Amino acid sequence: MMKITIEGIVLNETNYSETSKILNILTKEYGLISVISKGSRSLKSHLRGISMKLVYASFTISYKEKGLSTLIEGSPINSLKYIMTNFKKMGYANYLIELTKNVLKENNQGEIFEELIPCLIKINEDFDPEIITNIYEVKMLKYLGVNPSFSKCISCGDSDILTFDVNLGGVVCKNCYQNTYLFQPNTLKLLKLFQNIQIANIDKLNISSKKVRQELNLFIKEYYDTYTGIYMPRKDNLEKLTLIK
Ligand SMILES: [Zn+2]
Repeated sequence: MMKITIEGIVLNETNYSETSKILNILTKEYGLISVISKGSRSLKSHLRGISMKLVYASFTISYKEKGLSTLIEGSPINSLKYIMTNFKKMGYANYLIELTKNVLKENNQGEIFEELIPCLIKINEDFDPEIITNIYEVKMLKYLGVNPSFSKCISCGDSDILTFDVNLGGVVCKNCYQNTYLFQPNTLKLLKLFQNIQIANIDKLNISSKKVRQELNLFIKEYYDTYTGIYMPRKDNLEKLTLIK
């Protein structure tokens, strides 16, 4: 066993014995780890406040490479308080957590931590949660090993692009086009941008076209269904939440 202090975010909490919890914490250094938080369900426990889903903190842990590590102490890095107090933001944050858990089943990579945290911070700071979620969904395709290319026609290599053909798994030019859905050029531009953007560097986000927003979701849903084996959490409730300010 070794004592370590690491940044992490709690993705899951499960009650354990009378007073404890098992936490699944996503960390940069070790990917997803399981930690027992002893006595954290008791009101007096100093671990109580940090042993909950969505806590983003610096955790000191007695680390075991195999099996269950033990939480010693922790201090929050960002309380994400505007997420905690807003149904809509919370809905999107929970969606991101669920998606992350499913991606981690395929690829337990600490780098995913560095993609997730800036998304949550941006949602907390009132950036459009639907678009932040779309960016994250697109970025996760790399970790799932199915990153699409938006640059050159998948059939002939031409760089004059007409649309994305989901069945072929890439963009096509007008000569190779085979009667598939025609995405707006702006939708394709954004998808390409989303792949490469550093979320932490975003300082404004303004996508007003309803059509483009619908197409982003359409592309993501179809591409995930066709090329990833992972289950996408449901979004219908989130769509209702977008009506709330
Ligand atoms: Zn072509």
